[in-house]
Amino acid sequence: MRKVEILGAGFSGLVSAYFLQRAGFLVTVHESSSRIGGMIQTRDLGWTLTETAANGILNSVAFETLCAEIGVELVASSKHPEGKRRFIYRRGKARRWPLTGVESFRLFLKLPSLKRKSPSPLETVEDWALRALGSAPYHSLIAPALQGIYAGDPAKLNASLLFGRFFSGPKKKKMHPKLRGTVAPLKGMETFLISLANYLAKKGVTISLNSAPSLAGVERPLVMALPVTEVVRLLADAPNCVDAAQALARVETLPLLSVSLGFRTSENAPEGFGCLFARGEGIRSLGVLFENTVWKKRSEFHLERWILGGATDRGVMDLCDAEILSTILTDREKLTGRRAEPFAHDIKRWPKALPHYTFTLLEVLENKSVKSLPDAGIYLIGNYTGRLGLSGIIEQAEQLGKNEKFI
Ligand SMILES: Cc1cc2nc3c(=O)[nH]c(=O)nc-3n(C[C@H](O)[C@H](O)[C@H](O)COP(=O)(O)OP(=O)(O)OC[C@H]3O[C@@H](n4cnc5c(N)ncnc54)[C@H](O)[C@@H]3O)c2cc1C
Repeated sequence: MRKVEILGAGFSGLVSAYFLQRAGFLVTVHESSSRIGGMIQTRDLGWTLTETAANGILNSVAFETLCAEIGVELVASSKHPEGKRRFIYRRGKARRWPLTGVESFRLFLKLPSLKRKSPSPLETVEDWALRALGSAPYHSLIAPALQGIYAGDPAKLNASLLFGRFFSGPKKKKMHPKLRGTVAPLKGMETFLISLANYLAKKGVTISLNSAPSLAGVERPLVMALPVTEVVRLLADAPNCVDAAQALARVETLPLLSVSLGFRTSENAPEGFGCLFARGEGIRSLGVLFENTVWKKRSEFHLERWILGGATDRGVMDLCDAEILSTILTDREKLTGRRAEPFAHDIKRWPKALPHYTFTLLEVLENKSVKSLPDAGIYLIGNYTGRLGLSGIIEQAEQLGKNEKFI
């Protein structure tokens, strides 16, 4: 059996291990910390379970099949009607459709020609959306939706990186999973990774905790399933990888705050998956997830998870706990029309949460030294390698197992 080593036992590292062991490799995973899961952690706060990072994944046949094989039961966020309702806050109110009748009509007229308006490589999301869809859909739909996913600045996010796949050639026929939309294991995202690690161990995969070898100490092929900053540090010390390290060092990372709040009742909050806040509405938070509406049974109380920060608000990292709470409660009062005090809170700070999907990232991914790393037996996978979401990471990991160079 050919050997492969993986650095990092977060989501990327463990799903890569799964597809590589299936492709017949003898896999060893090195994890520098004392636990698996990386950013994904489901914390038991006593009164609720809450997530530190991803709270769900866009389901796919690959993910569903994987979960069935390792014995993880998935729940769809849309299982309950409330879980299907998503809101955008605009003109002082949480709305399921934030555009006015006239704005909707204008958007409707533009849709048939959308396919012909593919973004150019240099175009930002703002420029593309204004050109292709118009001002109101950009400000009230596209910008809030993308800030909820990418936490980026629409004036800098690269349209081609985000939407390029939608415009590229005829679409392959896609199989649909049984459960559509966002899914998660009943007891939280970390249970998926724990079950996966246990399954992999039974299949002969070695997962070494507290293990962070230098690149000189690991054989090739090697999969680096690490935060980009850590990839840069390791490549900078490896022979012939300095150029790739310098290119990757240009990837900008964005800060995020994830704040769980517990209320005894819903306190007038809209019943739904969550709400995104359009900019210019006097609300600092990026969005809020109504966690126990979506994932019932995790808490008997009303649990909200507020997300702040991103490219246009790096200052949130300098706020103390009291300032964070006060900011959120002021935002919440605007959303619900009522001041309410949570009985419990939990604040998670992520100084480098996500990569910024800008033109610089596109350049980095197209950089010759970065693209030729596989020639040296080094493969990169993570949220900065072209697909931000976990479902994209699954697709990339699946490709690793089929990669000709790799095999
Ligand atoms: C608030 C928030 C909400 C999010 N929500 C969503 C969501 O709803 N949907 C979604 O798809 N995504 C979401 N994400 C993003 C998603 O959680 C991350 O992209 C994903 O978990 C990253 O996984 P990873 O394995 O690539 O990296 P990590 O989780 O960072 O894992 C890397 C691992 O490598 C280890 N490591 C570091 N250095 C070394 C070394 N030298 N040697 C060995 N090991 C090392 C680390 O300890 C870690 O375990 C969210 C993120 C945040 C912050």
